[in-house]
Formats: sequence, structure tokens, C-alpha cells
Amino acid sequence: MDGSARPSTEGGVDVLVALLDQLRHGRAVTRPDLVQRTGIGRGVVSKGVAELIGRGLVEEHGTGKSSGGRAPRLLRLRAEAGHLLAVDVGVTSVAVAIADLAGRVVAHTEEPADLAAGPEAVLDRADALYRELAGSQHAEHGDLWGIGIGVPGVVDFRAGRCTAPPVPSWESFSVRDRLAERQGVPVWVDNEVNVMALGELRAGVARDHRCVVYAKLGTWIGGAVIVDGRLHRGAEGSAAELGHVRISDDPNVVCRCGRIGCLAALAGGSWLARNGERLAREGMSSMLADVLARAGRVEATDVSWAASHGDHVSRALIVENGRHVGHALAVVVNIVNPSLIVIGGGVSQAGDDLLAAIRESIYARSMPVATRNLVIQRTTVAGLGGVIGAAAMAADEIFARRRVAEWLDAGTPAGRPELASLAA
Ligand SMILES: [Zn+2]
Repeated sequence: MDGSARPSTEGGVDVLVALLDQLRHGRAVTRPDLVQRTGIGRGVVSKGVAELIGRGLVEEHGTGKSSGGRAPRLLRLRAEAGHLLAVDVGVTSVAVAIADLAGRVVAHTEEPADLAAGPEAVLDRADALYRELAGSQHAEHGDLWGIGIGVPGVVDFRAGRCTAPPVPSWESFSVRDRLAERQGVPVWVDNEVNVMALGELRAGVARDHRCVVYAKLGTWIGGAVIVDGRLHRGAEGSAAELGHVRISDDPNVVCRCGRIGCLAALAGGSWLARNGERLAREGMSSMLADVLARAGRVEATDVSWAASHGDHVSRALIVENGRHVGHALAVVVNIVNPSLIVIGGGVSQAGDDLLAAIRESIYARSMPVATRNLVIQRTTVAGLGGVIGAAAMAADEIFARRRVAEWLDAGTPAGRPELASLAA
């Protein structure tokens, strides 16, 4: 605000932000709810609600249940006043979604992509997919308010830039600047696994948890940690790099980072595919040999499929993979003491043997007190977790106190891309 007064709100931005937070998460739906949940006095709540209605951010819609007296009017965020663009860039895919201002995904599309094609090519495709989606949705939703995007590798969240991507062409690339130039709105960029964990926290199995570890078992292995309901990104944004937890001293196990014994060199999708193909060639598995003969290669999903159809060799691979993942997760469990571990990514669909092996390995290596009430579950928002999380990230940042103070009078953060770099 730089000292310039906003007389219309009389310094009441804190109240408006508190009310908006309750309404956009659906925690409160009437004025008495708002009073009860925020602890703010009735008169101040009424005045705040009136202001939010006047600004077109909130509306009344019918009446709720009476608790004796007059039935209270129902309130809702006018989530259709604008929309958010959510993007989930993976190593082999790009997903794009349109969400309302409450972060609910209203349209979604996905296609194969190659991260190695570079940021311009991948983000051009994301732009095109967004245009197609927006064309079909435009009538129902207002202007674009902001963008949330997850990308592979380590991200400097405050700068919106890739700092340690898995492919060199993304190194130091400012995803924020690129998207903000095209769309003219604030953009928030984070590591794709962080964004998936946020999706789980908002709409998946992690909804009722405050301390969560997320393990993404895809081609690569990534992790995310949520402490006290918030993502723990770390000093450089590289927190929870599960794939580089060292679990072996074997000098022959070399990771792409150049070190030996990293989890990602001993488990994950590419490890499963590589070993499945080796076993097929060695004549150890007739099922995998059939796949190899037919398709010319073996993929991780083929190993999962064979394991669930009675192939003992594939099952042993899945179990070994799970044991290694559990080994690394036990290190995190001993330090973070989560109440929930979520297993996501394509390999997570490999069947119950995988989850059982992960569980057994964690239990064997963690303090009993840390695992007494620990829940280990597969993701329930598979496929959509990334875009749900990216939308939630954009919504949370737009409705953060310092930013609301900046865009409230204009009625929208559109046209203010610099708001993203403002510390909230
Ligand atoms: Zn490594």
C-alpha cells in the first residue's frame, strides 16, 4: 500500500480477508457462522459482508436452517466472478485446467508432452490448451485472475524460476515472466510434487491432516512435506527431494545426480522398466517376454500389470521397489513425524503388494511412536491432483492479506502481474 490510505475499507482489510477465507473454503455459509468461526463481532461481520456484497465478491442465495429465530441468509463467494488457470507440467505430459475463484476445477484437459523440448515449446502447448478450454467456458466465468503452475525439479518459489530442473533447457528459466507477459496476471510457480501435495491437502486424502509426507512414484521419484497445514519448501526450495535420499553404498548404483546409492537409482518407474526388460531378455518371465516381443520394450505399467496377473518375477520387482521407497520414507518419518503418507504417481497404482512393502519397510526402520497412528494411503485425486493443487495455490496467494489490500479497489488482480512477487 506504500502508505497510501484506502478510505473505502477504513483499514478493515483484515476483516474482509478473514471473511473471504471462511467463505471461499465453505467453512462458514451464514453471518452467524462467520461470527462464530472468526471471533469477530456481529456488527463488524455484517458491515464486512455488506462491503463484500457491494464489491461483487460475495452474494446471498436463499436462507439456511433456523436455530430458533429468523432463518439466516446463506452467503457464498461469487467464485464465478473470475477464473484461474492451473497448469501441471510433468516430464512426459502437460495438464491444463480452468478453476473458479474458490479453486474448484471446472474444466480440464491433458496431453503427452516432452519436457526436454524446452520451456517455450511446452508452455506454448499449455497456452493453446488453455485457449481451447477458455473458448468452451467463457460464458460462465469472468476474466482470468491468476495462474498457478507446477513444473518438475527445484523451483525458486519467490522468484517463479526453475533452479535445478531435470533437463538443462529449463535451467534458470523464469516461468513466471513468460506466463505473466502473455496473460498479464500474477503467476505462482512451484515444484510439481509440492503442487500435487497441495491438491491432496485441498481435495484428497490429506484434507483432515496437518502434517503430511507425499511421495510421487513416477518415472522419477519426488517428495513433498506439509507441516502444520503448509508446504515446507526449505531455504532453497529443494526440501523433500526423496529421490536423492541415499539408501545404498553400492558403488555400481549411480544416480543421474552423479552420486551413488540414491533412491531414484534403485526404485521408480524407469528402474522398474529397465529391470522388467532385463528379466524378459533373460527369459525369467514369460509374460514380460511376450510384452517385449510385441511392443519392443517393457514399461513400468507392464511390470505392474504382470505382477497383478500372477507373474512372480514382476511381483518381486514391485516388492523390492516398495522396500526401497519405504527405506527412504522412514528417514523422513523419523524427522517429520507425519500423520499421513500419500503415495502418488503412475507407479502408485501398482497394486497392494507395493503399499504393503512400503509400509513394512517404514515400520521396520522408524521409531514405533512415529508409526503408531501413521496412515499410509494411495492418492485419491490421481491425475487431477496437480491442477487442483495449482489452482489452490493461485487462489491462496490471490486472497493473501497483503495482495487483497492491493487489488480490492480495482476489484481484480488482473493486469497486476507484479503482485506475485509481493511477499504475502
Ligand atoms: Zn541422486
